[in-house]
Amino acid sequence: MGDERRRSDAEWRRLLTPEQYRITREHGTERAFTGEYWDCHEPGTYACVCCGTPLFAAADKYDSGSGWPSFVRPVDATHVATREDNSLSMRRTEVVCAACDAHLGHVFDDGPAPTGRRYCINSASLRLDRDDDGDGG
Ligand code: FE
Repeated sequence: MGDERRRSDAEWRRLLTPEQYRITREHGTERAFTGEYWDCHEPGTYACVCCGTPLFAAADKYDSGSGWPSFVRPVDATHVATREDNSLSMRRTEVVCAACDAHLGHVFDDGPAPTGRRYCINSASLRLDRDDDGDGG
C-alpha cells in the first residue's frame, strides 16, 4: 500500500476491468444477483480489488437477500472509511477503501446481531483471498 491513492486515472483504467473501474473509481453499482460473490460461501478474506487491502472476513458475511455481498463488520475498522452520500435522492452512507479511496458500497443499520450493521458491497470491488491460498489469509 502507500502509492495507490496517487495512481492516475489512466493507471486505474489499465489495471482494472471496465466493470471494476466503473464501480470502484466512478461510484457505480453492479446489478443485484449478478456479481461474483453475492452467493459465495467460501472461507477467506475479501480484499480491495484495487490495492489488496484486507476489507472483510468471509466469517462476517451473511445472506441478506439483497443480491450483493453483505457483511456485519469490516475486518479492521481502519481499513474502510465512510462518507455521506446524498445522490439519487437518498441519504446513504458510502463505504470506501481507506487506502485507495475505491468505492465499495454502502452501510445500513438494518443488519443482524451482533453489530446491526449491513455492509452492502459490490463484488466487483472485492477479490476473495481464499484460506487455502497459503498466503496466511
Ligand atoms: Fe483499496
